[in-house]
Amino acid sequence: MVVPADFGFDAQKFPSYRENQLEVAQKIIVSDKPLYSVEAPTGIGKSLLAMTSHALMDRPRSVYLVSTKQLQDQIEIDFNVPTLKGRNNYPCLHFPALFDDGRGVTSEICSDYLHGDDCDFEADCPYLKQKRKALRAPMCVLNYPLFLSEANYVGGFSNLSYLIMDECDRIEDHLMSFIEVSITPYLMKRLDIGPPRYKTKLDSWVEWIKEVALRIIKEIEKVGPPNSLSPAKLKDLMRLKRTSRRLEFLSSSLNDNWVMEQEENKYRKSLGPIVFKPVKIGGFAPSNLWGHTQRSLGMSATIMGPQAMAIELGLHSWDVDSVSLDSPFPAESRWVNYIPVASVTHNTKGSAYPKLGDAIETTLKEYPKEKVLIHAVSYDLRNFLMDYLRPQYHGLMTHDKDDRAQALERFKGYNKPIVFISPSMDRGVDLPGDLCRVIMVPKIPYPNLGSPQVNRRLHAFSDGPLWYARRTARTLVQMTGRATRSLGDWSVSYIYDAQFGELVARSGHIFPSWWREAVRSGSL
Ligand code: SF4
Repeated sequence: MVVPADFGFDAQKFPSYRENQLEVAQKIIVSDKPLYSVEAPTGIGKSLLAMTSHALMDRPRSVYLVSTKQLQDQIEIDFNVPTLKGRNNYPCLHFPALFDDGRGVTSEICSDYLHGDDCDFEADCPYLKQKRKALRAPMCVLNYPLFLSEANYVGGFSNLSYLIMDECDRIEDHLMSFIEVSITPYLMKRLDIGPPRYKTKLDSWVEWIKEVALRIIKEIEKVGPPNSLSPAKLKDLMRLKRTSRRLEFLSSSLNDNWVMEQEENKYRKSLGPIVFKPVKIGGFAPSNLWGHTQRSLGMSATIMGPQAMAIELGLHSWDVDSVSLDSPFPAESRWVNYIPVASVTHNTKGSAYPKLGDAIETTLKEYPKEKVLIHAVSYDLRNFLMDYLRPQYHGLMTHDKDDRAQALERFKGYNKPIVFISPSMDRGVDLPGDLCRVIMVPKIPYPNLGSPQVNRRLHAFSDGPLWYARRTARTLVQMTGRATRSLGDWSVSYIYDAQFGELVARSGHIFPSWWREAVRSGSL
């Protein structure tokens, strides 16, 4: 019997293969398609599966992409492969005392500080040392933003034989973040420029971008030569130059297939950055992603249509081979109870929110000893639920944009029942065992139609409704999967929004079968 140790993996951590791991790895290596898609829920052991496929290919030059630094660390520990993080995680040896855990002067200042000169510390530079190690190894672990930036601007991690992409259903978001261009209110104030007069006209924005670019060049000239600058000024210079490069790219790319977004922060009564985004990202993927590798493996619990994913990412439907695996956890350890109490939309929220509050209260009474996570979807609903439940429940907690990670750690640390209301815990959150037993989804997480990009993507393309439904369904499945994390673990989820019934009637087939089998309809 073949065991992971046969490929050099740690025999204590990985004594044997779980069902499907080795078989799927063998299927991957014989595929002749540029992309192999593995839809695999929690508990399958995706990282060992992926690392085994790499070993079966005789360890070609490969990169393993993940979404977070924590996952990078986990794979480094489990498989002893080097990781490289963004430059802001490493000090510059010219200013080691100013590093301040990445908040101060980091290796990001490198090219501006050196200004073309060689560095005396090059051999010992922490970033460069780690990068050399990663480049020498047959496999290294990067995060998506770093990979896209390195492969496209520096070239070091291009020309790969094999690219492994964890949480591949988020590639669209990562590419969007890489391509989009932001102008912050701070920069506009500094440049003494407001938005253009005709905000709906493309030509008006093209002229505006040119003007912003010119003013940034003048600002860069004002800062002075890099070798005379303090570290803080160097950082400032670095940001200005980065924005200048992004504007150059934007000037050559902006057309009718882009949109401009500016969010309003209703609570702070201020406007956010102006963000330019392409409506569809597929046109950028061949050169920015697929062009850097001969073949790829995409893995996620929520792919929901590998062909649709391939097309959205600029490939053909026939460019992908795929497998979809069942959950190893029985349905009774992860029930999803659908209890429609109101159809929750912007127009109905006045009557719907109190019904949601009542339904949540009733359910909470059934679980007086458990820790509960409520996915509020928006700050608006979060605020309502906090106010509605506060008189009855002292054990309530929430967070804002700035303290999400700290609040999550506090929630995990409580060893008493507590209700955590969050607008943004749908992904990257692991709450096994007693850390959370009950999950509530008061509102279906449809992408925000107030975003011009989402609105155009939905309405201007024939695949828009499918794209919209897939994004919604992914988020919903991710939300309900935060708490049953291993065999023997259990949790129960509740969906209260009657819009779920409409989503299932229209697009029920896109939900994975292992998730559908756990859904039960009920009433309070
Ligand atoms: S190469 Fe030199 S200047 Fe660049 S980050 Fe490293 S230590 Fe700093």
